[in-house]
Amino acid sequence: MNASAASARVESATSTFLNRPRELLIGGKWVPAVSGELLDVFDPSTARVLAKIAAGGAADIDAAVKAARRAFSSPPWAKLRAIERARLLYRLADAVESNADELAWLESLDGGNPVRSVRNVDIAMAIESLRTSASLADKITGETQLSAPQGEGFGYFLREPIGVAGLITPWNAPFLMAVNKIGPALAVGCTAVLKPAELAPLTALRLGELICELGFPDGVVNIVTGLGSVAGQALADHPDVNKISFTGSTRVGKSILAAAAINVKRVTLELGGKSPIIVMPDADLERAANAIGDEICFKTGQFCAAGTRLFVHQSVHDPLIAAIAARMSGIKVGPGTAPGTQMGPIISETQLERVLGFISAAGAQGAELVTGGRRIDREGYFVQPTLMVRACANMSLMRDEVFGPVLGAAAFEDANDLEQIAAMSNDTQYGLAAKIWTRDLRSAHQLARKLQAGLVTINGGGGDGRLPFGGFKQSGLGREGGREGALSFTEIKAVSVGY
Ligand code: NDP
Repeated sequence: MNASAASARVESATSTFLNRPRELLIGGKWVPAVSGELLDVFDPSTARVLAKIAAGGAADIDAAVKAARRAFSSPPWAKLRAIERARLLYRLADAVESNADELAWLESLDGGNPVRSVRNVDIAMAIESLRTSASLADKITGETQLSAPQGEGFGYFLREPIGVAGLITPWNAPFLMAVNKIGPALAVGCTAVLKPAELAPLTALRLGELICELGFPDGVVNIVTGLGSVAGQALADHPDVNKISFTGSTRVGKSILAAAAINVKRVTLELGGKSPIIVMPDADLERAANAIGDEICFKTGQFCAAGTRLFVHQSVHDPLIAAIAARMSGIKVGPGTAPGTQMGPIISETQLERVLGFISAAGAQGAELVTGGRRIDREGYFVQPTLMVRACANMSLMRDEVFGPVLGAAAFEDANDLEQIAAMSNDTQYGLAAKIWTRDLRSAHQLARKLQAGLVTINGGGGDGRLPFGGFKQSGLGREGGREGALSFTEIKAVSVGY
């Protein structure tokens, strides 16, 4: 099939999907919300309605949790042989791969990110994530303690599935986040209720269709769309949910933690970030500038691990800033589905207003605009890639999660004072990621030890979904990804045996 025929096929499959009624997946069946109400989903590139979704509420969440509970115990998903759970997850990975172009197109319409980037990053990582989860299904085991402390006997511990997992996902990487939670939960034997973000729910619903086609037992995965304050809250509050895995804002993460106290739910939280980038005087400036400029524009700056506070040694400050500004101002901004687009829109008018607010507040507080700073005059929610220098630690630009393509920069003086560089970098409530650029291995590894962050990258080390991912401080609780992620859906049971 030639390229234009392939793209016509993808667009036609997407529009067929968009024209189907959007319902909730409960107990293996697509059903309308009890309220019968619908919510509009907008295309952020045009601000026009793209689709309507069911506005699920507490009654729908309750039905979904009951279906997940039935699937957990009878028929027993957790007792299905691990190799069988793995087989289904491998099949799901293959199905995602076969539908990758369509999924990328749909997610681009829904969330605004460039199709190419969604295909090559989000969908590619999701396929890998599913295969990693599948490969772990029969490898999450306990341990045996051969000698007992008193008398004869032995002890061992089991890792059992936690039960029903409530999964609440954000809009900035909706497909990948859904898969990163569903994969490990199912691999270890849990069943799930997924509540996708109302701003970009469509690929999660498409994932639900693929799951239904592949022969997963009914009720193993349930999907309830709806408002976070209604459906999300009902899931977090539900007394028969054993664990909540949440990705989103620190504000909502804290409310989930409070709700979890009701029945002492297990909780994993992936929250906000304000990640520092440290550029030492000996860094490869060209590589650093390109990577830093690209990263702040990746997903239009709407990703939790983005490097948003740049600390650069004064001796290389001016050339580095000039190179980053050139890179950022050359980024092609447009609708995610337009050919050549490198950066799409912000997700919503509210988020765009919020981003512009940070830029004008920083300007009023004395930060200097190097490039960008404005809304782009066209339909949709577009903003220019923005770089500001002379940013101070007390500015909201340097303290709060902006979630937009806005980078604040400051110079530091003493490259030998690693304590001071680390203190400056750690001066935040967050601790998700930290990025170091230097050719000096000694200072790179010394700094890595001093930084309070769940992920430290050195010279652009990229995301590896198999590494544990999560935050220090208010960036979260627990870890996702790889073996650690799968373990987080298990409960430990120790057994002590006497002869
Ligand atoms: P939220 O934290 O509000 O949303 C994340 C998810 O939580 C969504 O599915 C949302 O539902 C749901 N939710 C909202 N309120 C509740 C609740 N009371 N109980 C349970 N679930 C709930 O993020 P926003 O969309 O409001 O974004 C605001 C800011 O959060 C961003 O500017 C950014 O700073 C940060 N953020 C961080 C993310 C990250 O990856 N760390 C991801 C997204 C946002 P719904 O959307 O349907 O209302």
